[in-house]
Amino acid sequence: MNSTPSTSSPSTSWSGQPDILIVGAGMAGLTLAAALAEQPVSVQIIDPQLPDGPERWPNSFDPRVSALTQASENMLRRLGAWPAMAAQRVAPFAHMDVWDGDGTGNIQFHAAEAGATHLGHIVENRVTTHALYERVLAASNVEVIATGLDKILENEQGGWRILLSDGRALEPTLLIGADGARSRVRDQLGFRCRTWSYGQSAIVTTVQTAQPHGDTARQVFLESGPLAFLPLREQSTSRGSCLSSIVWTLDDDQLEPVMALSEAEFCARLGQAFEQRLGPVLNTDRRFAFPLLQNHAVDYIQPGVALLGDAAHTIHPLAGQGINLGLLDAAVLAEEIQRALQYELPLDDFSILRRYQRRRKPHNLLLMSTMEGFKRLFGVDVPPLRVVRNLGMSFCNRHSLIKGQIMARAMGMEGDLPALAQPGLVADF
Ligand SMILES: Cc1cc2nc3c(=O)[nH]c(=O)nc-3n(C[C@H](O)[C@H](O)[C@H](O)COP(=O)(O)OP(=O)(O)OC[C@H]3O[C@@H](n4cnc5c(N)ncnc54)[C@H](O)[C@@H]3O)c2cc1C
Repeated sequence: MNSTPSTSSPSTSWSGQPDILIVGAGMAGLTLAAALAEQPVSVQIIDPQLPDGPERWPNSFDPRVSALTQASENMLRRLGAWPAMAAQRVAPFAHMDVWDGDGTGNIQFHAAEAGATHLGHIVENRVTTHALYERVLAASNVEVIATGLDKILENEQGGWRILLSDGRALEPTLLIGADGARSRVRDQLGFRCRTWSYGQSAIVTTVQTAQPHGDTARQVFLESGPLAFLPLREQSTSRGSCLSSIVWTLDDDQLEPVMALSEAEFCARLGQAFEQRLGPVLNTDRRFAFPLLQNHAVDYIQPGVALLGDAAHTIHPLAGQGINLGLLDAAVLAEEIQRALQYELPLDDFSILRRYQRRRKPHNLLLMSTMEGFKRLFGVDVPPLRVVRNLGMSFCNRHSLIKGQIMARAMGMEGDLPALAQPGLVADF
């Protein structure tokens, strides 16, 4: 270890240089820190906006939720974060219903068909972040610092000298950019990216519908893009929860008029777009809009640096896969670091990062291009294509083998899974 951290709580007085510096305490950065807990390396994680605890959360639901796959649940269980999340609020869903708003195509998935109790969970981002943060604070080799990255310079040994916003300088052996879609680490170090804007934004908010959602995640493909109703758990209800988190993709020129609607008009417009599948939309919470872009770093690594999560790849939310990929990145990188420690390789050995990139990039690329294909297929209103996609959906719906493969992918249970994500007996967790 470069040095021994003296404290395991957010601190402003750092005593030494870390082996690993993680920039960004979002879900991806915290997962990496939690996966490295109690390993023989010193880790610092910095973020100017550290997660708030439940005592500071407003009474409403976090407008930002994620559909977490079975693989993500496995990781969060093994990292010890899941019990705190479950004690807060997680909403399992057992069914998915996807249809083409412009045609007759329809496909449904049921957990029972995969021999599972649920297909995934809808979880507020703040619930996941806070539970991971608590695990990280408990780790004796990890220090959390409430500050931001300011500048990255090269030091005399050819390594990195990191200047923090509070004036300190750090020289870690490994620098990790987990600082989200607008990553400063990525941009300052000149990582090349393939980026395009969709000219679209997503409106997210919590809505109440007349009918309960029946633990079903629903998504309709409209010409402008997908509209998802993701089931949320209501505490006291005997007939089933009627609360959903929505993600409504709109072209940028449609955004302002929809954001400006009164609540009654917004509910009516939303209910219409959703074909009143859950009856009228009765009320909504405050609306937030997120611009959508796709971004993929050509390389995730440079000597002594790795990107993970949204810093490496930002994906359209239609697949509900962004953070699921980010958690897998973190678990694989932690696995490669642990492997290097086991074989007594120095942390700046580039083969560690090369293995990380080799395991993660093709998987992320495949998922991103599949989602892009979906986005384009449903974004066109050319009659032959509409027929093909309707037939395709209905065909898949009738064929259990194909459906099984789609479900395995949606549950994150395929590909080169790190040990943290692999299935196992619940007793293992
Ligand atoms: C509308 C919408 C719906 C979505 N739905 C889903 C879904 O259902 N399922 C799913 O898997 N994904 C979903 N996603 C994607 C998911 O939200 C992101 O993939 C995820 O939040 C990325 O996590 P991250 O930790 O990589 O980055 P972030 O969450 O962006 O965290 C980055 C952290 O870095 C910190 N930071 C930034 N700059 C600095 C700096 N200079 N110094 C120090 N720290 C810094 C920030 O404060 C932040 O805490 C959705 C996204 C959107 C927009």
